[in-house]
Amino acid sequence: MVQQVNKKFMKFTKNQIDRYSRQIILKKIGTVGQKKLLKSSVLIVGAGGLGSPIAIYLTALGVGKIGIIDKDNVEISNLSRQIIFTTNDVKKKKSSTAINKLKKINPDIQLEPFNKKLTIKNINQIAKSFDIIVDGSDNFRTRFLINDYCLMKKKILVSGAISKFEGQVYTFNFSKKKSPCLRCFIPQIPNNPDIDNCEHEGIIGTLGGLIGSIQANEIIKEILGIGESLCGYILIVDGLKLTFRKVKLNKRKNCYCHDKIK
Ligand SMILES: [Zn+2]
Repeated sequence: MVQQVNKKFMKFTKNQIDRYSRQIILKKIGTVGQKKLLKSSVLIVGAGGLGSPIAIYLTALGVGKIGIIDKDNVEISNLSRQIIFTTNDVKKKKSSTAINKLKKINPDIQLEPFNKKLTIKNINQIAKSFDIIVDGSDNFRTRFLINDYCLMKKKILVSGAISKFEGQVYTFNFSKKKSPCLRCFIPQIPNNPDIDNCEHEGIIGTLGGLIGSIQANEIIKEILGIGESLCGYILIVDGLKLTFRKVKLNKRKNCYCHDKIK
């Protein structure tokens, strides 16, 4: 038994064993789980209030390949919640600036920036090589685009949303036939699909940390197949009352997306 464990350890470098030691000693992760993490790939859509903590945690704990797509440059109004950026980053491209920071946190993994807008034309080319897609975007047009793509390609989607003092998390595992989708919950695309809620309604920065960390945690669970998947539920977080409610979300009959994409 000891020999087996040693053999598994042999495949890690000394640096990797040190770096990931606090996770490797967890029974639910171990060397096998850490290898799974290092072999997994996650595309983060949006380097914002959610994307910042998601990217930092996934990088630090050794998800092997991480991509970040965001078309924007850093603005000073981003800095109250987008904790991966500093004042010196204002006007720089978000994706490549974030990736450069992440390389310093963990040079052991593959990091790829996409300084562009995610569109129906480029989504497959960008997302096809990633196992899991994380939605940290700020508008419904992008949210629906990612939802429809992940459903079509049967990829796992971990989605988060924040506004004011509240947030929501959804996990859709489209490899499961019973998985609901975003359109099961929000059937109609809202009137202003490009609206940025943060800009119009305001946001307290800590909600990005709360919800983004939960998203990162859900991604780890999905990669490792541990714990209870959030798939089939919405987590609703109220930062003022400090309540966390898990509400059942069933696959809806006559869902446009499920009917159209099979
Ligand atoms: Zn649906």
